[in-house]
Amino acid sequence: MEIKDFHTYQEQSRKTWNDIRMDHSIVYPTLGLVNEAGEFAGKIKKIFRDKGGVISEGDRQALASELGDVLWYLTQICTELDVRLEDVAAGNIDKLFDRLARGKIHGDGDNR
Ligand SMILES: [Mg+2]
Repeated sequence: MEIKDFHTYQEQSRKTWNDIRMDHSIVYPTLGLVNEAGEFAGKIKKIFRDKGGVISEGDRQALASELGDVLWYLTQICTELDVRLEDVAAGNIDKLFDRLARGKIHGDGDNR
């Protein structure tokens, strides 16, 4: 399936959401996001441990698949919060470009 924008992805991905029977439906995708980020990190760890840090084409595809899993959970969190994924993306790039324009792209703190 071709996905041309975040809105389409958010709509389509929701069709694969299983209605989780939890009192707090934000918990499941939050744990899933961290789990999938960990799977990505684990693959990077093994590439450095076993392959000298050289990323093969197979590794690249496996890493991209994990990033897709991260994206799925991130998107479900947005939906659970009634937030549009495209607004999250736009807000993030606006924040970063503002920091870049003010010479504050490096450093730390949420409100630079
Ligand atoms: Mg995964």
